[in-house]
Amino acid sequence: MPRVICPTCERAINNCLCQWIEGAIFNQVSLGILQHPNEAKQVKGTAKIVQLSLRDCQTWVGENVLEIPSLKHWLEGSQPVFLLYPKIEHQLEPFSEWCIARIQQTFELSAIKILVLDGTWRKTHKIMQLNSVLRGLNRVVLSPVERSNYRIRKQKDALSLSTVEAVYALYSQLESNAERYQPLLASFERMQAHQQNFYPPPIDK
Ligand SMILES: [Zn+2]
Repeated sequence: MPRVICPTCERAINNCLCQWIEGAIFNQVSLGILQHPNEAKQVKGTAKIVQLSLRDCQTWVGENVLEIPSLKHWLEGSQPVFLLYPKIEHQLEPFSEWCIARIQQTFELSAIKILVLDGTWRKTHKIMQLNSVLRGLNRVVLSPVERSNYRIRKQKDALSLSTVEAVYALYSQLESNAERYQPLLASFERMQAHQQNFYPPPIDK
């Protein structure tokens, strides 16, 4: 029997995310998500929760920005784009780092955009290596956040956040409004509770 796919979230009906989404959040800062192709098929991925929840959000799937004209166009617009990417010990190139307060003091929030990379650490690292245009972006540095509550998928380390948690942390800090973004975490919790019934939790090695 063919699998029935939800046309909105593009997941199989038994994993449909739409039932856990609370409705549109009116984010002030435009969000773009560059998703690694492997991640697009990942049933435990969380970028789709973000895409379905935020009013101003678009997702591109791919590895190479030059092969995605609409993303290239989005990056080249007049609004400054900040990249959310974790600090790594051996950075490929020196980033220009911006803390939240400095961004708030310098820009109208509606005048900037955020780009998030969605994929495993290895895959997003590869995307960074492939794309000099991304390495040239300013990087936004999060204020310290609580450790991840991602139970259904193994993380690189305790400080790694799932995409939905990272977007929650960034937007609640940037727009100084944790309440507005709380539905992201609520939807994430509902997805995890559902999936824990179907998939065993990852085993620590
Ligand atoms: Zn759905």
